[in-house]
Amino acid sequence: MSSSKTPTRVTPSRAVIKISGAGFGDENPLESDSISYILDQVNQARKTGTEIAIVVGGGNIIRGQEQEILTRTAGDIAGMVGTIVNGIVLKDQLQSLNVPVLLQSAFPTDRVTEPVSPDRADQHLQDGGIVVFVGGTGNPYFTTDSAAALRAGEIGADLILKGTNVSGVFTGDPAEEESEFLPELTYEHLVDHDLDIIDAAAANICRETGIPMVIFDLFDEGATARALEGDEIGTYVYPER
Ligand code: UDP
Repeated sequence: MSSSKTPTRVTPSRAVIKISGAGFGDENPLESDSISYILDQVNQARKTGTEIAIVVGGGNIIRGQEQEILTRTAGDIAGMVGTIVNGIVLKDQLQSLNVPVLLQSAFPTDRVTEPVSPDRADQHLQDGGIVVFVGGTGNPYFTTDSAAALRAGEIGADLILKGTNVSGVFTGDPAEEESEFLPELTYEHLVDHDLDIIDAAAANICRETGIPMVIFDLFDEGATARALEGDEIGTYVYPER
């Protein structure tokens, strides 16, 4: 798709996993079964030997753009704070499994997070720990997909995994029978065809950094680790060049 040459999938030494808020809960913002499932997937991912940084979303708590009574900026600030709540939960749970975790936030909350520091993150990853990035980009009008794209560039990740609740990118609504699954495509195609799976800002940052992304079903048991091993799951999105 959009390129005559099929790309070889990257087996990364360092990856950013973007976990949407939906991974933490659905009917309730935080559901213990969902959180246990995430922990399990992260543990399997670590066992591949890949260095893992995680960017967490906050859609299970609040999405700024969907709030009727709030201004957009107030809603977005609340949204970014929501990502910090998820990050606190993830850090607590990973630490209870003796995984060393650094919780870095683009949105200052000094008592519970440290500021984003690519240097400190780099060292911690080299030492075998996990870095959890929260607070999105620290700015309204963005999403945590853009944060994942930015952090991946800053820490020199070779791959971004975006876990969603669909198996990848389709030509239209995945629920519609005529929508076709796209096993691979370029960021350029994603932006040009307005495929609504990551926002254009995130896709453009990925074009700039040149880091590919696998968009896959987070709820497909074991898929996170398999994606890190280069298995052809989900949709592989890569820069055109
Ligand atoms: N948000 C923001 N700036 C950012 C990242 C997130 O304002 O850089 C806000 C925005 O309101 C968004 C909410 O935080 O709706 C939750 O983030 P996101 O929608 O990316 O979470 P996900 O859908 O991945 O759970």
